[in-house]
Formats: sequence, structure tokens, C-alpha cells
Amino acid sequence: MGHANLLAIAPAFRPGAVNAGDGAPVKGAATPVRHGIEIPVEARLRRRNPARVEVVPTTGRRENNMRRVLSLLVAVACAAGFVADAAAEGRGGGLRGGGGGMRTPKEPYEVLERKGLFATGLRAAFPAGVDCPGIASPYGSRTRYDGSARNNDHYGYHNGLDITLRAGTPLLAVADGTVVHAGTAGQLVGHFVWLHFAPAATGLPVHLFARYQHLDEPSPLAVGTTVEAGDVIARSGNTGTAGGHYGSAGYPHLHINFLVGDSAEHTVKGPMLGPKSLRYLDPLGLYLVPPPSPADNHALRDLPDAAKTVAVPVRTTDGRTLPAGSRTVWPVACSPR
Ligand SMILES: [Zn+2]
Repeated sequence: MGHANLLAIAPAFRPGAVNAGDGAPVKGAATPVRHGIEIPVEARLRRRNPARVEVVPTTGRRENNMRRVLSLLVAVACAAGFVADAAAEGRGGGLRGGGGGMRTPKEPYEVLERKGLFATGLRAAFPAGVDCPGIASPYGSRTRYDGSARNNDHYGYHNGLDITLRAGTPLLAVADGTVVHAGTAGQLVGHFVWLHFAPAATGLPVHLFARYQHLDEPSPLAVGTTVEAGDVIARSGNTGTAGGHYGSAGYPHLHINFLVGDSAEHTVKGPMLGPKSLRYLDPLGLYLVPPPSPADNHALRDLPDAAKTVAVPVRTTDGRTLPAGSRTVWPVACSPR
């Protein structure tokens, strides 16, 4: 990217009376007035988003050139920032993201340990009489489904769980919730959607935020849409998985990760979402109700081994909920045998 691109693109846009090229002010409908002074207008394209046209008021050619240089610097900085975000996102990170490649950890492991980034030892048990897509790589695992070592900037730990799925498989809301963020990111994330689950929806004493990623296509659900447990909210895919470890074919699967907050309050940045007082939760911790329902990975890890088998409620492909009346379900439907 360079200044030449800006100059090459700009002449292509010549809307009516607005002069795009030579800087000579042209009066027209787009001429704004500030403090009683008429300000000439120049239309420019910003390289960062070629589809978008910005009309920038200028007071003269010299200032305009300065703006071009500043705009270029901002565009370069934004592009660099985006790449850094995508790389830091990794296998579905929280605020600090997961890893991709040879990135240096940004935080001492002790910080991530306090947030609950480690294997809890929980195991999924599905209802009798149905076949469920199970866990290919569990939460906290330092290996991928194929046994290879994870390579990310949070010490190789998996911050969600993976379910291997044929692309196009319907993905279900795990509880009654609200779409709070959706979009498309690059390598290691792809198309994604974030749902928020209030305590009343899960029975847990916390607010949960779940990201579903590698979706087949961008989420059709607008932010603010409410969903019920078992509703189809997206379809699985392999976006963000091609290249790198998984080669050109990618790896079709759902990566789902849960973040915990003390309130519904959160911020978003790119594909990331940050609740206040962020902690991770092994997604299986959602289904361990009751008892206990700590929604805290440290407490889950400390359970006696016999208590670590989690009976996971499910929705079946013929529309039943097992056990009947469960308010949470597995993110993929199970087939009756
Ligand atoms: Zn994953």
C-alpha cells in the first residue's frame, strides 16, 4: 500500500460537483458550513476500505496534503493493528486472545491461570439412545484434535473446546440468550458470533459470553436478537482454519469458548469481547448444574474425579430436548439411534 494507491483510486470517483483530484475547491451540495465560514470539500477514498467514500472538509491544498499523509499513516497503523489482532486471537481468545504461530506470550502464565486457563478434567456424558458429536479437543488441552501440540501466545492452552463437524451443520444456542457481537475475522477465527447468557438462563451465578467461530458464513443474526436454547444460530464451517497447520483444506469444526463476567457489561474489539472481570470457563461447566455450580474453573478442577463426568442435556435432530425441560443444550443436535 502506498500513496500511489490513493492517487490511483481517487480519480475514479468523480461525484457531480465535487472535485476529487486537483484540490481546487468546488462549491456544491456537499459543502458544509462551520462557524459561518464556507469550507470547500474534497472527496477522497480511504485505502483501508475501498468501498467507502469519505468527504473530508479542507481549508486549503497544503492542509489537504497533510491530511493525506496523516490518513496514510493512520491506514498503515490500522492495517498493522488488524493483523496483530487477528494473530493474537488465535484459537478463539478472550480479551487477550489465543495464539497463532510463534507469538510471544503477552502475560505471565500466572495471570492466565488466575483467569482459569488450564484443563479442568471434566468429561462429557451424553443421554442414552442418541449419537452426539463429541469433543475433538477439550478445553485447556495443549494439543489439537490430531494430537499435535498447540502453538499459541497463551502457552499452548486451548481456551475453548472443538467439535469436528461437516461444514453446514446447524449450531444451536446453548441457552436462552442474546446476540451481542458478530463479524468476520481472519486466520484462526473466521466468521464468528457472540451470545450473552444471563444467570436466569443458565442457573449459574454469573454472566456467560460464548463465541462460536469458524462459521460457514457470516451470522444472519443482528446484534440484539434474542434466541432460545436449541435455536439454530449459525452453521459450522472451516473459515479461519485454512493455511498453517491444517493446510489448504482447513479443518471444519466448531470452536466454542466461554467467558465469564460479573455483569452483562462488556466491550468488543474486532472478534474479541471482554466482560468486566474476565474469566474463562470450561464450556462443560455450563452443564454441571446442580451440584455444584461454581462456574469457576478452579473449583471445577478441584472436584473429585468421580464428580467430573458431566451429564450434558441435548436437543435431538427430531426436536426433542433430553432430559425434557433442560434449559441448556449441547451446541450441536444429536441423532436418535
Ligand atoms: Zn479450538
